[in-house]
Amino acid sequence: MSAHRAPRRFAGAERAHAAADAGRPVWLLDLDNTLHDALRSIMPRINRAMTEYVMRRTGLDEAGASALRVHYWRRYGATLLGMVRHHAIDPHEFLRETHPFPDLHALVRRDVRLAHLLRRLPGRKIVVTNAPEGYARGVLAALGVAPLLDGMVSIEAMTFAGRWCPKPSRPMMHKLLARLRLPASRCVLVEDTVENLRAARRCGVRTVWVSGIAWRARPAWQRPRRGQRGIDVHVRTVVQLARTPLASRIHGHRSRSE
Ligand SMILES: [Mg+2]
Repeated sequence: MSAHRAPRRFAGAERAHAAADAGRPVWLLDLDNTLHDALRSIMPRINRAMTEYVMRRTGLDEAGASALRVHYWRRYGATLLGMVRHHAIDPHEFLRETHPFPDLHALVRRDVRLAHLLRRLPGRKIVVTNAPEGYARGVLAALGVAPLLDGMVSIEAMTFAGRWCPKPSRPMMHKLLARLRLPASRCVLVEDTVENLRAARRCGVRTVWVSGIAWRARPAWQRPRRGQRGIDVHVRTVVQLARTPLASRIHGHRSRSE
């Protein structure tokens, strides 16, 4: 990460930009399986580390711990929340032990089209991820896009009333919008997880579903279809984002390619 300017964590400095770029969109970009493919080598390692953590904390065998991990993920949107609520674990310890990646540069695939997209996309770009900060910074450095981003909100910053509230928490989204001092309609959440998109849409945020990576990980009955509620625009890969009508409409004019 030292070779790149780190994206600023969401903080008071962000507010100063609000007046300066009035009228431009603010892109809230998910990280895993949106900006890069985490399915192949990263998610299996996180899932394995989480299962081992749950085994250590609960005494369950591997199958039981794996099932509990998935159950908490489906019920609360993050395994972490279930472990905090039902097993009183230290969330920072959980995040540290479940993201063991000293070799991220070897695992993350850099795609030059992503940097090209971020350079030409109008408006601010803020990464909003349910991943821990250290891991997210490592991925952005490996992708080579850290200097092209205006901020990052990691899971450690997603708290509300003293509780951890990662996506798809609507209170967290409202809090984020309030700090940005922006109407929700100026913001666009770009995500692979449809549940997160639906929640954001109910807050008034526009939504782009990036389906191409995570699609493979879901069984057929779980795969959302185009035109579903909560999805304004559907793209297969994030690099198609600049060509979407949503980008040009928010920007206030139609792009030349349309
Ligand atoms: Mg994702």
